[in-house]
Amino acid sequence: MIDCDLCGKTAPGDVPPLTWVVSRERGSVQHYCDRCARENVRNIEGRLERSYW
Ligand SMILES: [Zn+2]
Repeated sequence: MIDCDLCGKTAPGDVPPLTWVVSRERGSVQHYCDRCARENVRNIEGRLERSYW
């Protein structure tokens, strides 16, 4: 089970859905559900390398 780190929404299974965003920050992995990813896309995008997308 995977939890969204912003709203706590859970996704079934061991792999986040494709619509979720996985952000690796200083060794820890953050998961954002589709909705939170959209709302926070600018924040998240700013911390990711361009090649990630
Ligand atoms: Zn969320």
